[in-house]
Amino acid sequence: MLQEDVILTVNAIAATSATDPLVRTTIERRDVGPRDVLIEIRYAGICHSDIHTVRGEWGEVAYPLTVGHEIVGQVTEVGSEVTKFSAGDRVGVGCMVNSCRECDNCRAGQEQYCTNGNVGTYASVDRDGTITQGGYSTHVVVDQDFVLRVPESIPYQAAAPLLCAGITTYSPLAHWNAGPGKKVAVVGMGGLGHMAVKIAVAMGAEVTVLSQTLSKKDDGLRFGAEHYYATSDPATFEALANTFDLIVNTVSAPVDLAAYLRLLRLDGTLVSVGAPPEPLPVPVFALFGARRSFAGSSIGGIAETQQMLDFCAERGIAPEVEMISADQVNEAYERVLKSDVRYRFVIDVDTLR
Ligand SMILES: [Zn+2]
Ligand SMILES: [Zn+2]
Repeated sequence: MLQEDVILTVNAIAATSATDPLVRTTIERRDVGPRDVLIEIRYAGICHSDIHTVRGEWGEVAYPLTVGHEIVGQVTEVGSEVTKFSAGDRVGVGCMVNSCRECDNCRAGQEQYCTNGNVGTYASVDRDGTITQGGYSTHVVVDQDFVLRVPESIPYQAAAPLLCAGITTYSPLAHWNAGPGKKVAVVGMGGLGHMAVKIAVAMGAEVTVLSQTLSKKDDGLRFGAEHYYATSDPATFEALANTFDLIVNTVSAPVDLAAYLRLLRLDGTLVSVGAPPEPLPVPVFALFGARRSFAGSSIGGIAETQQMLDFCAERGIAPEVEMISADQVNEAYERVLKSDVRYRFVIDVDTLR
Protein backbone atom coordinates (compact mmCIF):
# COMPACT_ATOMS: atom_id res chain seq x y z
CA MET A 1 0.00 0.00 0.00
CA LEU A 2 1.30 3.44 -0.90
CA GLN A 3 1.86 5.92 1.91
CA GLU A 4 -0.92 8.18 0.51
CA ASP A 5 -3.43 5.41 0.80
CA VAL A 6 -3.05 4.85 4.51
CA ILE A 7 -6.25 5.70 6.30
CA LEU A 8 -6.70 5.89 10.03
CA THR A 9 -9.75 4.26 11.55
CA VAL A 10 -10.66 5.98 14.81
CA ASN A 11 -13.38 5.76 17.44
CA ALA A 12 -16.20 8.26 17.18
CA ILE A 13 -19.80 9.06 18.04
CA ALA A 14 -22.09 9.46 15.05
CA ALA A 15 -25.67 10.25 14.13
CA THR A 16 -27.17 7.61 11.85
CA SER A 17 -30.36 9.54 11.07
CA ALA A 18 -32.13 12.78 11.98
CA THR A 19 -34.13 11.06 14.70
CA ASP A 20 -32.12 8.18 16.18
CA PRO A 21 -29.80 8.65 19.15
CA LEU A 22 -26.09 9.08 18.43
CA VAL A 23 -24.09 5.85 18.62
CA ARG A 24 -20.51 4.76 19.08
CA THR A 25 -18.84 3.82 15.84
CA THR A 26 -15.59 4.19 13.93
CA ILE A 27 -14.78 6.71 11.22
CA GLU A 28 -11.90 7.13 8.81
CA ARG A 29 -9.36 9.93 8.81
CA ARG A 30 -7.13 10.68 5.85
CA ASP A 31 -3.43 9.99 6.09
CA VAL A 32 -1.30 12.86 7.38
CA GLY A 33 -0.39 14.83 4.24
CA PRO A 34 2.68 17.06 3.95
CA ARG A 35 0.86 20.09 5.42
CA ASP A 36 -1.37 18.17 7.83
CA VAL A 37 -1.36 17.81 11.58
CA LEU A 38 -2.67 14.69 13.35
CA ILE A 39 -4.38 15.66 16.59
CA GLU A 40 -5.26 13.31 19.41
CA ILE A 41 -8.49 14.87 20.63
CA ARG A 42 -8.85 15.24 24.40
CA TYR A 43 -12.01 17.33 24.73
CA ALA A 44 -14.88 18.24 22.42
CA GLY A 45 -17.56 20.82 23.21
CA ILE A 46 -21.23 20.37 22.36
CA CYS A 47 -22.57 23.31 20.37
CA HIS A 48 -26.25 23.90 19.61
CA SER A 49 -25.26 23.85 15.91
CA ASP A 50 -24.27 20.19 16.32
CA ILE A 51 -27.84 19.36 17.28
CA HIS A 52 -29.42 21.45 14.50
CA THR A 53 -27.12 19.74 12.00
CA VAL A 54 -27.58 16.09 13.02
CA ARG A 55 -31.34 16.59 13.17
CA GLY A 56 -31.36 17.97 9.63
CA GLU A 57 -32.79 21.31 10.79
CA TRP A 58 -30.26 23.30 8.76
CA GLY A 59 -30.62 21.24 5.61
CA GLU A 60 -30.06 17.68 4.51
CA VAL A 61 -26.92 15.92 5.68
CA ALA A 62 -25.30 12.61 4.80
CA TYR A 63 -25.43 9.94 7.52
CA PRO A 64 -23.63 8.56 9.39
CA LEU A 65 -22.30 11.94 10.53
CA THR A 66 -19.92 12.83 13.35
CA VAL A 67 -20.29 16.43 14.51
CA GLY A 68 -18.31 18.62 16.93
CA HIS A 69 -16.42 21.83 16.13
CA GLU A 70 -15.01 22.76 19.50
CA ILE A 71 -11.94 20.58 19.57
CA VAL A 72 -8.81 20.58 21.73
CA GLY A 73 -6.08 18.02 21.98
CA GLN A 74 -2.44 17.43 21.30
CA VAL A 75 -0.43 17.07 18.16
CA THR A 76 0.86 13.53 17.73
CA GLU A 77 2.22 13.67 14.19
CA VAL A 78 3.00 16.34 11.59
CA GLY A 79 3.53 16.22 7.83
CA SER A 80 6.91 16.84 6.24
CA GLU A 81 6.15 20.47 5.33
CA VAL A 82 4.52 21.48 8.62
CA THR A 83 6.34 24.40 10.22
CA LYS A 84 3.83 25.76 12.71
CA PHE A 85 3.38 22.76 15.01
CA SER A 86 5.25 19.83 16.43
CA ALA A 87 4.32 16.71 18.38
CA GLY A 88 3.14 17.47 21.89
CA ASP A 89 1.73 20.93 21.14
CA ARG A 90 -1.62 21.75 22.68
CA VAL A 91 -3.90 22.78 19.84
CA GLY A 92 -7.47 23.49 18.87
CA VAL A 93 -9.73 23.25 15.84
CA GLY A 94 -12.89 25.30 15.45
CA CYS A 95 -15.71 25.51 12.93
CA MET A 96 -13.72 25.33 9.68
CA VAL A 97 -10.85 23.23 8.38
CA ASN A 98 -10.14 24.83 5.00
CA SER A 99 -11.07 27.61 2.58
CA CYS A 100 -10.11 28.61 -0.97
CA ARG A 101 -7.27 30.89 0.28
CA GLU A 102 -7.54 32.95 -2.93
CA CYS A 103 -10.66 35.11 -2.67
CA ASP A 104 -10.55 38.66 -1.27
CA ASN A 105 -11.91 37.57 2.09
CA CYS A 106 -9.44 34.69 2.50
CA ARG A 107 -6.58 37.00 1.55
CA ALA A 108 -7.81 39.44 4.19
CA GLY A 109 -7.67 36.72 6.86
CA GLN A 110 -11.46 36.44 6.94
CA GLU A 111 -11.60 32.79 5.89
CA GLN A 112 -14.97 32.37 7.60
CA TYR A 113 -16.41 34.59 4.87
CA CYS A 114 -14.64 32.78 2.00
CA THR A 115 -16.68 33.70 -1.10
CA ASN A 116 -16.21 30.15 -2.36
CA GLY A 117 -17.47 28.77 0.95
CA ASN A 118 -15.19 27.63 3.75
CA VAL A 119 -14.93 23.92 4.49
CA GLY A 120 -16.82 23.27 7.72
CA THR A 121 -15.29 20.95 10.31
CA TYR A 122 -18.22 18.58 9.77
CA ALA A 123 -20.90 17.94 7.14
CA SER A 124 -18.92 19.87 4.48
CA VAL A 125 -17.39 18.56 1.27
CA ASP A 126 -13.64 18.39 1.88
CA ARG A 127 -11.10 19.11 -0.85
CA ASP A 128 -10.77 15.35 -1.53
CA GLY A 129 -14.52 15.05 -2.06
CA THR A 130 -15.25 13.28 1.22
CA ILE A 131 -17.65 14.65 3.82
CA THR A 132 -15.83 16.19 6.78
CA GLN A 133 -16.36 14.52 10.15
CA GLY A 134 -16.14 16.48 13.39
CA GLY A 135 -14.66 16.32 16.84
CA TYR A 136 -16.70 13.71 18.70
CA SER A 137 -13.87 11.33 17.92
CA THR A 138 -10.44 10.38 19.16
CA HIS A 139 -8.34 11.88 16.34
CA VAL A 140 -8.59 14.38 13.53
CA VAL A 141 -6.30 15.32 10.64
CA VAL A 142 -6.30 19.03 9.76
CA ASP A 143 -4.25 21.32 7.52
CA GLN A 144 -1.84 23.29 9.73
CA ASP A 145 -3.27 26.62 8.56
CA PHE A 146 -6.56 25.81 10.28
CA VAL A 147 -5.08 24.65 13.57
CA LEU A 148 -4.88 26.99 16.56
CA ARG A 149 -2.42 27.11 19.41
CA VAL A 150 -4.16 26.74 22.79
CA PRO A 151 -2.11 28.47 25.51
CA GLU A 152 -1.22 26.27 28.48
CA SER A 153 -2.71 28.76 30.94
CA ILE A 154 -6.23 28.01 29.68
CA PRO A 155 -7.47 24.96 31.62
CA TYR A 156 -7.48 22.01 29.22
CA GLN A 157 -11.00 20.88 30.14
CA ALA A 158 -12.47 24.33 29.60
CA ALA A 159 -10.67 25.38 26.42
CA ALA A 160 -12.78 23.61 23.79
CA PRO A 161 -15.83 25.93 23.79
CA LEU A 162 -13.58 28.88 22.96
CA LEU A 163 -13.20 27.45 19.45
CA CYS A 164 -16.85 28.20 18.60
CA ALA A 165 -18.65 30.00 21.44
CA GLY A 166 -15.55 32.06 22.24
CA ILE A 167 -14.71 33.27 18.75
CA THR A 168 -18.36 33.71 17.74
CA THR A 169 -18.77 36.31 20.46
CA TYR A 170 -15.24 37.76 20.48
CA SER A 171 -15.32 38.66 16.79
CA PRO A 172 -18.37 40.99 16.83
CA LEU A 173 -17.31 42.49 20.17
CA ALA A 174 -13.90 43.32 18.69
CA HIS A 175 -15.33 44.48 15.34
CA TRP A 176 -17.82 46.90 16.94
CA ASN A 177 -15.21 48.11 19.44
CA ALA A 178 -16.60 46.91 22.74
CA GLY A 179 -14.36 48.58 25.29
CA PRO A 180 -14.12 51.31 27.91
CA GLY A 181 -16.97 53.81 27.68
CA LYS A 182 -19.15 51.45 25.64
CA LYS A 183 -22.42 49.99 26.86
CA VAL A 184 -22.87 46.45 25.62
CA ALA A 185 -25.92 44.24 26.11
CA VAL A 186 -25.81 40.48 25.73
CA VAL A 187 -29.12 38.79 24.90
CA GLY A 188 -29.28 35.24 26.24
CA MET A 189 -27.09 33.63 28.93
CA GLY A 190 -26.30 30.27 27.37
CA GLY A 191 -23.10 28.85 25.91
CA LEU A 192 -22.53 31.84 23.65
CA GLY A 193 -24.01 34.44 25.97
CA HIS A 194 -21.91 33.63 29.01
CA MET A 195 -18.76 33.92 26.88
CA ALA A 196 -19.96 37.21 25.40
CA VAL A 197 -20.35 38.57 28.93
CA LYS A 198 -16.89 37.45 30.07
CA ILE A 199 -15.16 38.73 26.94
CA ALA A 200 -16.98 42.08 26.80
CA VAL A 201 -16.17 42.65 30.48
CA ALA A 202 -12.50 41.83 29.84
CA MET A 203 -12.50 44.30 26.93
CA GLY A 204 -13.57 46.99 29.41
CA ALA A 205 -17.20 47.54 28.35
CA GLU A 206 -20.10 48.13 30.72
CA VAL A 207 -22.10 44.95 30.28
CA THR A 208 -25.81 44.30 30.73
CA VAL A 209 -27.38 40.85 30.42
CA LEU A 210 -30.85 40.57 28.91
CA SER A 211 -32.13 37.12 29.80
CA GLN A 212 -35.60 35.65 29.78
CA THR A 213 -35.66 35.36 33.56
CA LEU A 214 -33.41 36.33 36.46
CA SER A 215 -32.52 32.69 37.20
CA LYS A 216 -28.88 33.10 36.15
CA LYS A 217 -28.45 36.60 37.57
CA ASP A 218 -25.90 35.59 40.22
CA ASP A 219 -23.77 33.95 37.54
CA GLY A 220 -24.04 36.95 35.22
CA LEU A 221 -22.84 39.31 37.94
CA ARG A 222 -20.08 36.87 38.88
CA PHE A 223 -18.92 36.92 35.24
CA GLY A 224 -18.61 40.70 35.54
CA ALA A 225 -21.89 42.06 34.14
CA GLU A 226 -22.99 45.26 35.91
CA HIS A 227 -26.69 44.93 35.17
CA TYR A 228 -29.08 42.04 34.63
CA TYR A 229 -32.63 42.36 33.35
CA ALA A 230 -35.44 39.91 32.59
CA THR A 231 -36.81 40.24 29.06
CA SER A 232 -40.06 38.62 30.22
CA ASP A 233 -40.72 41.89 32.08
CA PRO A 234 -42.01 44.60 29.69
CA ALA A 235 -40.65 47.28 32.06
CA THR A 236 -37.12 46.22 30.98
CA PHE A 237 -37.72 47.59 27.49
CA GLU A 238 -38.95 50.93 28.83
CA ALA A 239 -36.14 51.30 31.34
CA LEU A 240 -33.40 50.60 28.80
CA ALA A 241 -34.65 52.50 25.72
CA ASN A 242 -31.83 54.28 23.81
CA THR A 243 -29.11 52.84 26.05
CA PHE A 244 -26.68 50.54 24.25
CA ASP A 245 -23.88 51.05 21.75
CA LEU A 246 -23.92 47.36 20.90
CA ILE A 247 -26.30 44.48 21.50
CA VAL A 248 -25.06 40.96 20.86
CA ASN A 249 -28.01 38.63 20.33
CA THR A 250 -27.02 35.03 21.06
CA VAL A 251 -30.54 33.60 21.04
CA SER A 252 -31.35 31.22 18.22
CA ALA A 253 -35.13 31.49 18.63
CA PRO A 254 -37.02 34.33 16.92
CA VAL A 255 -36.92 37.58 18.93
CA ASP A 256 -38.95 40.80 18.75
CA LEU A 257 -36.40 42.82 16.78
CA ALA A 258 -38.28 46.12 17.11
CA ALA A 259 -38.20 45.86 20.89
CA TYR A 260 -34.44 45.20 20.95
CA LEU A 261 -33.52 47.76 18.29
CA ARG A 262 -35.16 50.49 20.36
CA LEU A 263 -32.69 49.74 23.15
CA LEU A 264 -29.87 51.03 20.92
CA ARG A 265 -28.67 54.61 21.22
CA LEU A 266 -27.69 56.74 18.21
CA ASP A 267 -25.61 54.73 15.71
CA GLY A 268 -25.91 51.60 17.83
CA THR A 269 -25.73 48.12 16.33
CA LEU A 270 -27.68 44.97 17.08
CA VAL A 271 -25.64 42.01 15.89
CA SER A 272 -27.08 38.51 15.75
CA VAL A 273 -24.84 35.50 16.24
CA GLY A 274 -27.69 33.13 17.00
CA ALA A 275 -30.09 32.41 14.17
CA PRO A 276 -33.54 30.91 13.96
CA PRO A 277 -33.98 28.84 10.78
CA GLU A 278 -36.80 31.10 9.58
CA PRO A 279 -36.26 34.73 8.41
CA LEU A 280 -36.74 37.57 10.92
CA PRO A 281 -38.68 40.56 9.59
CA VAL A 282 -36.65 43.76 10.12
CA PRO A 283 -38.71 46.72 11.39
CA VAL A 284 -37.10 49.49 9.35
CA PHE A 285 -38.68 52.34 11.31
CA ALA A 286 -36.88 51.19 14.42
CA LEU A 287 -33.63 51.59 12.44
CA PHE A 288 -34.61 55.11 11.27
CA GLY A 289 -35.27 56.20 14.84
CA ALA A 290 -31.58 56.53 15.76
CA ARG A 291 -29.58 55.55 12.63
CA ARG A 292 -29.38 52.06 14.06
CA SER A 293 -27.88 49.02 12.34
CA PHE A 294 -28.90 45.39 12.34
CA ALA A 295 -26.03 43.04 11.53
CA GLY A 296 -24.93 39.42 11.57
CA SER A 297 -21.56 37.88 12.36
CA SER A 298 -20.17 34.40 11.86
CA ILE A 299 -17.31 32.91 13.93
CA GLY A 300 -13.96 34.61 13.12
CA GLY A 301 -10.91 34.25 10.91
CA ILE A 302 -8.02 32.00 11.87
CA ALA A 303 -5.73 34.87 12.91
CA GLU A 304 -8.53 36.43 14.93
CA THR A 305 -9.30 33.08 16.58
CA GLN A 306 -5.67 32.87 17.70
CA GLN A 307 -5.94 36.45 18.96
CA MET A 308 -9.04 35.47 20.96
CA LEU A 309 -7.27 32.45 22.52
CA ASP A 310 -4.29 34.59 23.49
CA PHE A 311 -6.61 37.29 24.86
CA CYS A 312 -8.49 34.75 27.01
CA ALA A 313 -5.21 33.30 28.27
CA GLU A 314 -3.91 36.75 29.17
CA ARG A 315 -7.09 37.80 30.94
CA GLY A 316 -7.68 34.47 32.63
CA ILE A 317 -11.03 33.90 30.92
CA ALA A 318 -12.42 30.42 30.28
CA PRO A 319 -15.84 28.95 29.58
CA GLU A 320 -17.84 27.35 32.37
CA VAL A 321 -18.14 23.69 31.47
CA GLU A 322 -19.86 20.51 32.54
CA MET A 323 -17.79 17.43 31.67
CA ILE A 324 -19.57 14.37 30.34
CA SER A 325 -18.52 10.95 29.09
CA ALA A 326 -19.06 9.72 25.54
CA ASP A 327 -22.13 7.78 26.70
CA GLN A 328 -23.89 10.90 27.97
CA VAL A 329 -24.04 12.80 24.68
CA ASN A 330 -27.69 11.98 23.89
CA GLU A 331 -28.75 13.01 27.37
CA ALA A 332 -26.68 16.18 27.03
CA TYR A 333 -28.48 17.06 23.76
CA GLU A 334 -31.84 16.87 25.52
CA ARG A 335 -30.53 19.13 28.27
CA VAL A 336 -29.11 21.65 25.80
CA LEU A 337 -32.54 21.87 24.17
CA LYS A 338 -34.02 22.68 27.58
CA SER A 339 -31.26 25.25 28.29
CA ASP A 340 -30.32 23.03 31.23
CA VAL A 341 -26.56 23.44 31.11
CA ARG A 342 -24.19 25.84 32.80
CA TYR A 343 -22.82 26.67 30.38
CA ARG A 344 -21.31 24.22 27.91
CA PHE A 345 -21.09 20.45 27.81
CA VAL A 346 -17.64 19.11 27.04
CA ILE A 347 -17.08 15.47 26.13
CA ASP A 348 -14.10 13.85 27.83
CA VAL A 349 -12.80 12.09 24.72
CA ASP A 350 -10.68 9.72 26.83
CA THR A 351 -13.98 7.90 27.48
CA LEU A 352 -14.17 7.11 23.76
CA ARG A 353 -10.81 5.38 23.45
ZN1 LIG B 1 -20.71 26.02 17.25
ZN1 LIG C 1 -11.82 32.12 -0.06
